[in-house]
Amino acid sequence: MEGRRTLASEVAATGVALHAGVPVQMRMQPAAAETGIVFRRGDLSGSPSIEALWSNVSQTRLGTVLSSGGVSVAVVEHLMAALAGAGIDDCLIEIDGPEPPILDGDALSYLRLIDQAGSREAAAPRQTIRVIRPVEIDLDGASVKLLPASVAEFSFEIDFKSTAIGRQSFACVLTPENFRREIAPARTFGFYEQAEAMRAAGFGRGADLKNTLVVDGDALMNPELSRYSDEFVRHKILDAIGDMKLAGAPLQARFEGRRSSHALNNAALRALFADPANYALV
Ligand SMILES: [Zn+2]
Repeated sequence: MEGRRTLASEVAATGVALHAGVPVQMRMQPAAAETGIVFRRGDLSGSPSIEALWSNVSQTRLGTVLSSGGVSVAVVEHLMAALAGAGIDDCLIEIDGPEPPILDGDALSYLRLIDQAGSREAAAPRQTIRVIRPVEIDLDGASVKLLPASVAEFSFEIDFKSTAIGRQSFACVLTPENFRREIAPARTFGFYEQAEAMRAAGFGRGADLKNTLVVDGDALMNPELSRYSDEFVRHKILDAIGDMKLAGAPLQARFEGRRSSHALNNAALRALFADPANYALV
């Protein structure tokens, strides 16, 4: 049986918060087995902690927000995806702002930090959550399914009006190698025509042409940033892997997303855990 993994040493990074637009320092530290992934807001009185769990998801507009005891941390999904892809079970993440730094807008920047820290296996065994009964959430033509499977798999389909994106689909088995090569480099994206309204509403203030693929009508404004021809759907899988990491243990399931969002991803986990007959801890 595989043991739980944590970082072998501490690692730090600084950058800008994607939505809040403020500078943020982040320290990722080793944690004892069974800690799980825990965020700590070092900038707030008493340095309150928030467990990275589906039950703490409080908002899902343009990113996944975790809240506990009136304290929040936003845009956790890319960092959570990197921790999932690297097989890290226990980690303490201290930030001095409202979000982890967005870095390159991908999961690869976080994966490189985890590489720098190294990882080690604890004596405690790792449990996985095996999906036994299919769970499906549908809303306005978007859907998420969690289906029984022998390994962790992700598939996704998107369909955007902009021909810069159009219809894209991608699927992969979640292994550390596949994640690093096929998913982690895929960057976040946004639409130029929405930028002003988003900023006015407090979103995207740290987004720029170096960390976000920006679509203007039918054109990509910064094609020099692009790493794959189907980068948008790969990024949606990256987001889904990060959101599924909030299950609290690796999911043994096939995730099928169709135009789904952070809201639907979280709804799928809530539906899964609503009935103990849906899954088994193994
Ligand atoms: Zn994302």
